[in-house]
Amino acid sequence: LRRKLDHSGSLSTVGQMAASIAHEIRNPMTTLKGFVQLMEVTATGDTAKYLSVVDDELQRMEAILNEMLMLSRPSEEKISEFSLGVLITKVLEIMKPKAMFESIQIDWHDASFCDSMIYSNADKIKQVLLNIFKNAFEAMEPGGVLTLKLEKAGEKSFTLSVKDTGKGMSPLQIKNVFMPFFTSKPEGTGLGLPFVLKTMEDLGGEVAVSSEWGIGTTFTLAFPQHYLENSTTIERYSAN
Ligand code: ADP
Ligand code: MG
Repeated sequence: LRRKLDHSGSLSTVGQMAASIAHEIRNPMTTLKGFVQLMEVTATGDTAKYLSVVDDELQRMEAILNEMLMLSRPSEEKISEFSLGVLITKVLEIMKPKAMFESIQIDWHDASFCDSMIYSNADKIKQVLLNIFKNAFEAMEPGGVLTLKLEKAGEKSFTLSVKDTGKGMSPLQIKNVFMPFFTSKPEGTGLGLPFVLKTMEDLGGEVAVSSEWGIGTTFTLAFPQHYLENSTTIERYSAN
């Protein structure tokens, strides 16, 4: 389970640029949105149609900026002790309505997992899980199955595998999934997995992916039991 840090350079560049660009663009965009919405009130016919497209696109731009800000935000770590198993169950609760609506089965048995106490940043791990689950759902058709397994990996870490029965990825996709702005979705931002990679590294963890075209994808996340501050090397983690 190894993920080399070869994208961290581009990530920090994106991060620094994102902070300044997002701040510069967000204010004029708010003004634009305000005027467009004002015009929508009285617009009729084609003009109304065009304005609603403009409104939608502005909303999309805002979503991209927000994700860029998430990536660039300097990470203050709110570290606490919590059960990883319980956190996973809670995050899956959020996905349940969507799973029901899209006829996706979630295979997760947390009861067998009593002791998964870790010392880390729960908010961030929640965001990581949401990103991974969202991607899995987006890759699957009705009838798909999401299988989660949490295991103790050695003395000081836990491994979570998240397996979907979705469309899978081509070798080229696998190679690029952690690159900022890489997306195969018309409405995608390509910033979800860069956030996952950066966050896992910030927490001293790892992320790996394996996938087969037409069969499905598995993301494997390794969490150290104790948050490792500024863990910039994987060696430090695997040496434990
Ligand atoms: P986005 O979801 O906005 O496209 P992400 O960074 O979350 O951006 O994902 C990047 C790309 O990685 C996706 O567009 C998709 O091509 C691929 N991908 C990620 N997760 C999966 C998955 N579970 N199954 C298939 N492809 C995936
Ligand atoms: Mg995504």
